[in-house]
Amino acid sequence: MTDPGHAILFEPIGLGPLTAPNRFYAVPHATGHGWTQPSGAIALRAIKAEGGWGTVAVQMTEIAPDSDMANHPMERIWDDGDIVRHSVQVEAIKSHGSLAAIELAHGGMRARNMTTGLPVAGPSHLPVLRPEVPCQARGMGLSEIRAFRASHRAAARRAKDAGYDIIYVYAAHDLSILSHFLSKNTNQRADQYGGTFDNRIRLLREVLEDTLEIAAGERAVALRFSVSEPGKPMGLTSGGEGRDVVEALSELPDLWDVNIAGWSSDSATARFSDEGFQLPFTDFVKSVTTKPVVGVGRFTSPDFMASLVKNGRLDLIGGARPSIADPFLPKKIKEGRIEEIRECIGCNICVSMDSYGLPVRCTQNPTVSEEWRRSWHPEMPLISKRRRSHLVIGAGPAGLECARVLLAAGEKVTIADSSSEPGGRVAKEARLPGLATWRRVRDYRLHFIERSPDADLYLHSSMAASDIADFGSDTVVLATGAKWRGDGVGATNFQKRDFGERRVFTPDDILEGRIEEMAFEESIVYDDDHFYIASAIAEALQRAGQRVSYVTPLPQIATWTDNTLEQSRIIERLDETGVSLGPNLKLGGSSVLTNCLTGEISEIGSRNLVFVGARIPVDGLRQEIEAAIGADRINLAGDCLVPGIIQAAVYSGHQTARSIIEGESKFDFKRDKAWISGARKSPA
Ligand code: ADP
Ligand code: SF4
Repeated sequence: MTDPGHAILFEPIGLGPLTAPNRFYAVPHATGHGWTQPSGAIALRAIKAEGGWGTVAVQMTEIAPDSDMANHPMERIWDDGDIVRHSVQVEAIKSHGSLAAIELAHGGMRARNMTTGLPVAGPSHLPVLRPEVPCQARGMGLSEIRAFRASHRAAARRAKDAGYDIIYVYAAHDLSILSHFLSKNTNQRADQYGGTFDNRIRLLREVLEDTLEIAAGERAVALRFSVSEPGKPMGLTSGGEGRDVVEALSELPDLWDVNIAGWSSDSATARFSDEGFQLPFTDFVKSVTTKPVVGVGRFTSPDFMASLVKNGRLDLIGGARPSIADPFLPKKIKEGRIEEIRECIGCNICVSMDSYGLPVRCTQNPTVSEEWRRSWHPEMPLISKRRRSHLVIGAGPAGLECARVLLAAGEKVTIADSSSEPGGRVAKEARLPGLATWRRVRDYRLHFIERSPDADLYLHSSMAASDIADFGSDTVVLATGAKWRGDGVGATNFQKRDFGERRVFTPDDILEGRIEEMAFEESIVYDDDHFYIASAIAEALQRAGQRVSYVTPLPQIATWTDNTLEQSRIIERLDETGVSLGPNLKLGGSSVLTNCLTGEISEIGSRNLVFVGARIPVDGLRQEIEAAIGADRINLAGDCLVPGIIQAAVYSGHQTARSIIEGESKFDFKRDKAWISGARKSPA
């Protein structure tokens, strides 16, 4: 039953000649499947339509071979041979009553053309927009601009033939040739496409008009545009920047899809931004156009979403990450199952997969990218043929997810945890600055477990092998996690170090609140883990009154956070809080740091040492239990199987439950392959 306060979210809305059935709009986002793994891509999007997203958009789709984004598997609609694949995708989305949208794009100075070998194109002869790539863009002549327009028209025609309802013109994220023509920074032309604002917006206007002509009132045309780039002038105009573009084109598209650039701002993590963080930038758009506006901002709260539509701040609620974490978010709101929403935690593990060009993974939703490959459905539980009893030791992400899936299948589950609170590492890490949303991993799962008549959860229950054997369950799942090492072993050093008399603190010490045991007022947080935890601990200690130096043997701060788009924000945050930064400093001996570049040695001296390195599985019970009840009744899940990120623990818990219920092996999956029909013809 829909809460009357949320009913506005289910009102249809006209988008040009079409009507979207509700206000939930799954915006274009990279899936990592792209054209190379289309079955996975199609299933992922169909699930969103099934979950109630009234419009489901397909990610950036290369219009022609001179916009080759390899090694990122985007979508492609280069020629007629791609149409069949897109038609299947459209049908899969529409079969659930949703509108299907396609984001046509030419990457311009962000394309690489490494597989096609064609020149990278842009408004001016300048290096491409990736300083690390030794490649320049060619400034397009007028005939090349005409050819680009023709290839965009041809792609729009193919998109129409494939059956898409909404055809995008893409000018966002600094990832589009149209943005490159708009910006004074990248457009240094002196002809009718450069110089004045009217000249620089000319190509965008022409492409919009071309696309509207192809759409011919039978399809809607959306314009995706980044209205601002926080902290950076966009080089669009001297004053209004993005606003001038919206004013100039206000009534031209059928739909405005607005956001902020670059991608690290658009996909900001929860550590650095709250729900709705883009609204201060995009709010003005509704006052400039009468056309419907969709915006994003990691929206997961139905009250907030409804207030945005009621107050005329947005017409449609855009979701990329919220739709990955919970493809059934709209349906749950419609049915009044608010507590069942699997809220995005804003961790950007999904984004990190795109850095590698791989199918998206999600901390909250272990079934994403497995819809086709393993036939995993995010909401339809497995149903167990036998009703057996299971003892899950450990109520961290792995144990809770395993228990949830077992219970949903109709099994009986007892969970025991030695701690005073459920959640394992997420409960503890959530106390670090900016990581409060980590608790959602626990809360979503606890909601089900606490309501299940077949579940018992015991805290303060440290289980020994004899307790487990005496319990007599049909199976035992060890989800006992991992401990941080304090012996010097980390990502760059596999040998134990002798720290002599020095008391070395680990993240577990900090997370368990043993800060008062620190003898000195200054601390070194030594990061040989290279993800988020060391920087978050450094910030926490500094805020707690310590004078902290963050030190790492690698040249970069929190190296892997580049993949979650957080690295520069982390550096800024540490700097703001007064933490000093020491890259290229390696622990040597018991109490010295060696500069990796100069060989200079400095003493740790009277400073606390917090060592953030490798972890070791807490799996000591395994052998004893095996001896008592036999190996075939025991399963290991999560960090106690292999220490990893939270997403990996949730995935492991999920997979373990499935293997218990129906014997699914970890190798049970189908292999996807690219399918295109027909041969390429010359563009246009
Ligand atoms: P994961 O990420 O794999 O879920 P966590 O470290 O988050 O692992 O959670 C492991 C949980 O297991 C912790 O809450 C810890 O208290 C609990 N635990 C570890 N050993 C035992 C044990 N012998 N008996 C009961 N609980 C245990
Ligand atoms: Fe949200 Fe993290 Fe899932 Fe991405 S991986 S959708 S940020 S929970």
